[in-house]
Amino acid sequence: MKTRVVKAFGDPEQDREIMEEAGEIIRSGGLVAIPTETVYGLAGDAFNPDSSRKIYEAKGRPSDNPLIVHIARLDDINAVAEDIPEAAFKLAERFWPGPLTMILKKKETVPYETTGGLDTVAVRFPVNKIAQEFITASGGFIAAPSANVSGRPSCTKASHCVEDLDGRIEMIIDGGEVGIGLESTIVDLTEETPCILRQGYINEAMLKDTLGTVGREAADSEHPKAPGMKYRHYAPKGKLTIVKGKASDVARRINELVREHEGRSEKTAVISSHEHMSMYKDCRSLVCDIGSLQDEDMIAHRLFALLRELDDKEAEYIYSESFDTPRLGEAIMDRLYRAAGHSIIYAGDH
Ligand code: AMP
Ligand code: MG
Repeated sequence: MKTRVVKAFGDPEQDREIMEEAGEIIRSGGLVAIPTETVYGLAGDAFNPDSSRKIYEAKGRPSDNPLIVHIARLDDINAVAEDIPEAAFKLAERFWPGPLTMILKKKETVPYETTGGLDTVAVRFPVNKIAQEFITASGGFIAAPSANVSGRPSCTKASHCVEDLDGRIEMIIDGGEVGIGLESTIVDLTEETPCILRQGYINEAMLKDTLGTVGREAADSEHPKAPGMKYRHYAPKGKLTIVKGKASDVARRINELVREHEGRSEKTAVISSHEHMSMYKDCRSLVCDIGSLQDEDMIAHRLFALLRELDDKEAEYIYSESFDTPRLGEAIMDRLYRAAGHSIIYAGDH
């Protein structure tokens, strides 16, 4: 299959022809990769079981890992979910359109292929203008997981989608780099107490501020409610290890480790905050500046692209500092821990 890469601008006039074409692809059961404010998504018709099957196939994703249904009008939530609790409308009022996914009881009309066999459905109303134009042009209901091939870092630019999906889908809509760079926060609203299943840009404090009590799923749960959380994710090809501790201890330990690899001529890389770059000045290996600890949005935005760059540079061993920043730290570190397969070293006294 030939994959067309086309540019869109978030302006309905300029994008009209492309959206007509993309909508036609979706209505006839094809797949299109699209930008959203979180990461690029791989979109198909949410009501077409064949489209969902194709999404699993194109991503190489296990079919028990459900897709998120994307809508472009609040009212459309009623077409995919039922028995919707008041909490969902409160969250929608504050955070939609935006990077928040809600788990609700599914309507019978939503195929099990889309929900991975579950009686619940994940719903999100993205704020990205191109995504909204596209959803509307496609009939209003799009199933879209992240566009990366299963296990790889999520796509934050169109070129990442080309790397992963060229030849497997009909179209990639290039809307430039995404804004946030981390997948949406997922909140389960099917139990009495709302529960965070995946951390994201909308953090726990923001949810509590709206809902009062909010639970969270244990990070090491063996049977997570979001099936996607049980898989190793976001993994670069090299062996990634996170080094935790006091900044000076971390830098000392990373420098030692890097020297050992250098001695064996193994390609090694370091992921450092901007503030700590000078601590690695003696490394002959690649030291990457992920951004300032004062600018956590930048760290989130850079993370997946950086992991892909390290693949391109064929890094065999990667050591990363930990980025426990106040607002997005949990979401960032959730991705980084998974990317590292939870390989962590504690430096210094502990
Ligand atoms: P992705 O868009 O690739 O991040 O994947 C969607 C995420 O949403 C995965 O982690 C899924 O397991 C999760 N998800 C989708 N639908 C549901 C659902 N009905 N219940 C729980 N988690 C879900
Ligand atoms: Mg994903």
